[in-house]
Formats: sequence, C-alpha cells, structure tokens
Amino acid sequence: MLLSHLHADHCLDIPGLLVWRRYSPNAPTGRVPVYGPAGTAQRLGVASAEVAGEVDDVSDTLDIRPLSDGGTFRFGALTISPSKVDHPPKPTDSASPATPVARSSTRATPACATR
Ligand SMILES: [Zn+2]
Repeated sequence: MLLSHLHADHCLDIPGLLVWRRYSPNAPTGRVPVYGPAGTAQRLGVASAEVAGEVDDVSDTLDIRPLSDGGTFRFGALTISPSKVDHPPKPTDSASPATPVARSSTRATPACATR
C-alpha cells in the first residue's frame, strides 16, 4: 500500500484490513508493506487500538516504510517521487508535520496531489 497522506479517506480502511490479516485463519501471512508520510504508524495505531487513548503496535502486520520529500523508489511497476504539497486542511498537531504526497511517473498520481 502507498498512502499519499493521512487524511481519513486515505487511510482509515486499513484498521479493518489489519484485523483481518492479524486474526483470520485464511489471511495471507507476512507483513504488508505500507509506504506513508511521517506519523503513519501512529495514525494507524491510534485508529486500530481497541481502547480509546491507546496505540496499537501494528508492526506485527504492517511494515511501515517512510515517505520522505525528495528521492525516488520503485513500487511495483511504478517509480515514486514523494514531494510535499499544500493540501488543506493543514495538520494541527506534530504527529502530522507535513503533507508529503507521493507522485508517480505514471498516471497513478493521487487526485489530492496537486500543487
Ligand atoms: Zn486529503
């Protein structure tokens, strides 16, 4: 998975996937690679916690890999070049310090990732 940013509509389906991967006897084994901006593990951990105020350690199921501004990496058939963009609303806490958005060299550029 590749998360361009951590707005709810981009990442809050992942806790359901995490529960299935973690507990279903029919789920594939191994951790799922998840590329995301700074704060991804915290955001998904809070959303996946069974008790409000706690943070689930998602590292048993998800392999969180940081997106950073600049640089390039391969993601399947795509070449990804993350870069920060202005995408309101602005983050209000330090857990989401910026909005790095992944751009692809093919048509898979996220709809929200416009300058
Ligand atoms: Zn957004």
